[in-house]
Amino acid sequence: MAKSRFEYVRTFELPDPLLNNTFVVCRVDGRTFHKFSDVHEFEKPNDKPALDLMDRAARAVMDELPDVVMAFGESDEYSFLIRRQSNLFNRRRSKINSTVVSIFTSAYVFYWPQYMTNTPMQYPPSFDGRVVLYPTEKEGTDSKDKNELLFTQFGINYNNISPQFRKGSTLVRVSPEGEGMAESVTPHGEAGPSVPRRAPVSPAPEVVAQAHGDGVQGEADEPGGEAEAEAEAEAEAVQDASVGDAEVEPKAGVEKKKLGWREKKAKRTRPYEGITGRVVVLHEDIIGDKFWALRPWLLS
Ligand SMILES: [Mg+2]
Repeated sequence: MAKSRFEYVRTFELPDPLLNNTFVVCRVDGRTFHKFSDVHEFEKPNDKPALDLMDRAARAVMDELPDVVMAFGESDEYSFLIRRQSNLFNRRRSKINSTVVSIFTSAYVFYWPQYMTNTPMQYPPSFDGRVVLYPTEKEGTDSKDKNELLFTQFGINYNNISPQFRKGSTLVRVSPEGEGMAESVTPHGEAGPSVPRRAPVSPAPEVVAQAHGDGVQGEADEPGGEAEAEAEAEAEAVQDASVGDAEVEPKAGVEKKKLGWREKKAKRTRPYEGITGRVVVLHEDIIGDKFWALRPWLLS
């Protein structure tokens, strides 16, 4: 429409930015899936290949959108958590919503033959989508409260889910430090030993909270980070000069300087944000604290 006489219609587009500094959850829901599952003879909601296909479609969303740091699905629904600091599509609600639903739906159709091997698709399924905002924690809200609230935002009611599938599917990325833990995760997510084989290296939630305590100054793409950038440049220069090994014993005389850049380095090293690394499917309890304590970036 650009440069045409219809260009004026753009002026009717309303801005729909989502509030900054909030968790965004986009929920995708199969439309008339009772009928769809009847026609395709899968037993809603517990048909294993159908659920695996849902998981696959959800992974497609996470592969395409790194800012989606977690997905949770059960039955014909999937919820996608977008990290709090995200600036995805300038946080435009309709753009986020439509893109997530579109990727999910097309992936669902695309991967159908791989999962529903002997069941040709009879007609195109559709999903609706909605975006809900979860406000940033109020002062004094602990992570347990956050779990609860976020859980509510995911719209999950465990009482409505049969025990066998009570845990649903959870997709998250594996941090570099978490790769050791990921050994216990099989492709379709039967979670292995519930105790990680080695202690997670990720800092505890409180530590992360502290690291973020001075606002988002650690963010390179934030405005007003000039001093930070200078400090980084300096730290890098010193690091290069000293062959960049943090474990080198400080020598007398340079000790003060060294401690200086160490501090700076520690300050500029970002905690894992959940936007890189492999996506894995888990069938774990996400109500308890453990899931969240192991992945502090989800609520940071
Ligand atoms: Mg539905």
